[in-house]
Formats: sequence, C-alpha cells, structure tokens
Amino acid sequence: MRIRSTVTATALATCLALALTACGQSGAGGSKGEKDTKDLTVGIAMPTKSSERWIADGKNMVSSLKKFGYKTTLQYGEDDPDQQVSQIENMITQGVDALVIAAIDGRALANVLQQAADAKIPVISYDRLILGSPNVDYYASFDNEKVGELQGGYLVDKLGLKDGSKKGPFNVELFAGSNDDNNTRYFFQGAMNVLQPYIDKKQLVVKSGQTRLNQVTTLRWDGGTAQKRMDDLLTSSYSKDRVDAVLSPYDGISIGILSALKSDDYGSKSKPLPIVTGQDAEVASVKSIIAGEQTQTVYKDTRQLAEVAAKMVNALFDGKKPEVNDTKTYNNEKKVVPAYLLDPVNVDKTNYQSVLVDSGYIKASDLN
Ligand code: BGC
Repeated sequence: MRIRSTVTATALATCLALALTACGQSGAGGSKGEKDTKDLTVGIAMPTKSSERWIADGKNMVSSLKKFGYKTTLQYGEDDPDQQVSQIENMITQGVDALVIAAIDGRALANVLQQAADAKIPVISYDRLILGSPNVDYYASFDNEKVGELQGGYLVDKLGLKDGSKKGPFNVELFAGSNDDNNTRYFFQGAMNVLQPYIDKKQLVVKSGQTRLNQVTTLRWDGGTAQKRMDDLLTSSYSKDRVDAVLSPYDGISIGILSALKSDDYGSKSKPLPIVTGQDAEVASVKSIIAGEQTQTVYKDTRQLAEVAAKMVNALFDGKKPEVNDTKTYNNEKKVVPAYLLDPVNVDKTNYQSVLVDSGYIKASDLN
C-alpha cells in the first residue's frame, strides 16, 4: 500500500478517526486517502511530437514510471498552448494522482495548475520551468545555463580565440529558442557569458547587429523560421563578407540554418560552412555532424531525466521529499522551485561514437 504525498501523518490520523468515510474524496483541505501502487496514475503532458527528443521523453517517462508500478496517461500538445491546457484539464478530471509537465508556453498554465492544486495533485515541471504559478512542486531538468556555455565555448574554442592562436575578427550570428520557453533565456545567457567578452573586444563581430535576446528568438523552436531568418541575414549583412560561426540553440534550428547557408553556396570549396552549434543530439544532426556540416551538439541524456522525474513522483507518493541538487537557481516568479539538474555534454565528430553510440543513446545503424 502506498500513501499519497498529499496525505500527511496528521491527515491520516484524522481520516482514521473519522472511520475513513470522507477520506477517499478530494476537496479543499482534504486528502485523497490511500491507493494501491497499481491504482496510481501519472499524467504526462509533453509539448510536441515534431522533435525526436520529446518522443523519447514521453516513452522514457512511461517506462520509468512503469518500473515503479504506476499507470500513465501521455499526451502531446502539438506546440499549441491551449491544447496543452485542455489536455491537463482532462487529466485532472480523470483523477490522475500526479502530473509531469513539459510546458509549451511556460506562462500559460497558472490557471490549470490551480485546478491541480485544488485537487491536491502534485506537479513536476519537466525540463522546462513552469512560470507564474506557486503550484509547481519540483523541477527536473539539466543545467540549462551550462548548455549555452558549452555552445558559446565551443565556438570560441574552434575559432582559435580561446587559446589565443587566432585573434579574429570573426563574424558570428546568434539564434535563440522560443521566447515562451523559460530555458531559452538560460541557454542564451550561458552562451553570451562566453561570447560577450569577445564581442566587446571586437574579436567577434555580429554584423547584423542583432545581439539582444528579443531580436534572435525563434518561435516554437521552428527550423523553417530559423532558415528564413538566416536567409535574411545572409542577404542583408553578408553580401560581401562571410559568416564564420552561428550560435544555434537546438538541432532543428541548426538544420534550418544549414539549409539557408547551403542555398547561399556555403559548403562549397571556396566557401566553407561556418561552425554551427546545436542541442539534443537528434539523429539527423548527428548524421550532419558526421558529414561535416553541423559542427557540434549538446547531448542531454533524456533517459536519465525521465528517471529523475519518475523518482520524484515516487518519493511524493511515498510521502517523502524528492532528492534535489539545486534550491537556488530556478525562481518561477512565485517561488524558487527545488530542482534536480543533470549535466549536459558537448558532442562533435570526435566523441559522438563514445558518448552517443557506445552508451546506447543512438543505434549505430540509425546513423547509416
Ligand atoms: C529543451 C531543449 C530542446 C528545445 C526544443 C528546450 O526546452 O530543453 O532540449 O532543444 O526545448 O525542443
């Protein structure tokens, strides 16, 4: 028998004293009583199936929770914030016992999370922090600022600026993720921590002049939108000069950027491709890295992330405190959400085999 997280020792004692009659009901101030492990269901709300990583996240969450014996219901919001809200509302109505949510729009969930809180359903914010709601219990993610630092660090390293072997100036353009995803500003901040000093010293030049986050975001992380922006940048700022490096926050965006570059003859003998970063180690991008097009990606082991989130749920169901390793960084404007952050890893042509293939994250046959 598992005790639900919302059942405190006192509540339990009260329930017993009241001969258990009202304890199976949810309601203000009440608890939902006890359930067998096999009767506990976790609602999982994922953002989109358009990207490989989220498909894997959904599968991994289901299997990690199954290992603990829990049932799951998994929904994808297809990058539509309203659809995600109604999916979560339905899960609450169906009586799920916990929610794991990777938000599409981090600010769109405050009302629905109030409904979850009223129904005493604990909420884990998955990968992306949910903003503006006090009803977020825990956060499972990666060190998101470090993701950006790895991307920015890779650019200065490969350009030869870090070890001083080259002085530049080099031309760089900057891309960021979706402005409604809280991770976006952490990734960008991390990258700019590294790049800004070189921009200040004019060793890196952003010829478009677009260096502020609100000038470089990419709504819903869409590769086509990024391709269009890169096309525009090449036309407006690079008719005479070449671009040496592009900061890209995500593999799908990198693929779009590379398409624009290739249409402008980059990748030919006289016009080598710039260094292009990425994130997620998606198969198409790892193939691109092997083919010498995209240069880098940031690998985040989403199998581990699902395990962390599942352990959090399990601890809550057991009435215990989930393990966290960060209680300072992630303020969602209502509270600092206790978090467990995993480590992101730099991947390029030199280590994709050991990091991605040998670890079983990607099958060698998928890269042929
Ligand atoms: C995730 C990234 C992902 C991006 C686009 C972010 O919130 O942290 O791993 O690349 O969303 O899906």
